[in-house]
Amino acid sequence: MGRVVAVANQKGGVGKTTTAVNLAAALGRLGKKVLLIDLDPQGNATVAIGVDKDSLNGSVFEVLTGELKPKAATVYVEQANIDLMPANGDLTAAEVTLLEEDMGPKRLRKSLKKTRMNYDIIIIDCPPTLNMLTLNALTAADGIVIPVQCEFFALEGLSALMGTIDTVQEQLNATLHVDGILRTMHDRRNNLANDVSNELVTHFGMKVLQTIIPRNVRLAEAPSHGESVLDYDLSSNGAIAYLALGNELVRKTNI
Ligand code: ATP
Ligand code: MG
Repeated sequence: MGRVVAVANQKGGVGKTTTAVNLAAALGRLGKKVLLIDLDPQGNATVAIGVDKDSLNGSVFEVLTGELKPKAATVYVEQANIDLMPANGDLTAAEVTLLEEDMGPKRLRKSLKKTRMNYDIIIIDCPPTLNMLTLNALTAADGIVIPVQCEFFALEGLSALMGTIDTVQEQLNATLHVDGILRTMHDRRNNLANDVSNELVTHFGMKVLQTIIPRNVRLAEAPSHGESVLDYDLSSNGAIAYLALGNELVRKTNI
């Protein structure tokens, strides 16, 4: 049964989508059967992997509202060799519908019950808020990967997120596990980045992943070409880092 991993942090612009897309592509290259779920109405992961978010036949929205089965809302992305359940602005409406339901936070978990049998790993790209969509992801997930940009305010939002994870563990999903805190956009020459990185290790110890994602221009360029960084420039430091992350996650979680 495939492992479900949510990539989440309510802080915006920390590298969630970059991580979800490129980790998915890295695991695809490592021979794993991968489903990437875009759970953000911004649809950034959808666009970044090369799918037109304005002409979707089905999306995660219809899965959450029960109109479509997951398979009918999934497209195969040939270049990256992964499946994608895309999203666009319609998803904002799903959040409102889910808020009105008792089943609200458990919708995605229920939808993926059978689907997860078909994959080694399902990666969920979360929006930058602790809303009903993120709650759905954390309730459906076995593990959470938390991208953190090594900068001054990085730690501040983390305690709120850890609090949410505790609440989800108590009330909705007792087996949710922190697969790792991922340091992103790291610049070795920047003293503050190194300080924050060390502080993360002091606070969270083994929860901090060994792989560090460097600041790399190829990672920023790849989405505008609709390609993962592995297809865009396999020799770049960004591609090498995300392959290392894929390997680390495989070792850590037996995917
Ligand atoms: P949001 O909260 O809006 O969903 P996010 O957490 O998903 O944002 P990304 O979209 O992945 O963050 O990244 C924010 C910006 O930083 C993007 O323009 C992305 O291309 C760029 N970026 C992410 N990681 C790196 C990196 N390691 N090196 C250089 N640029 C990066
Ligand atoms: Mg994003």
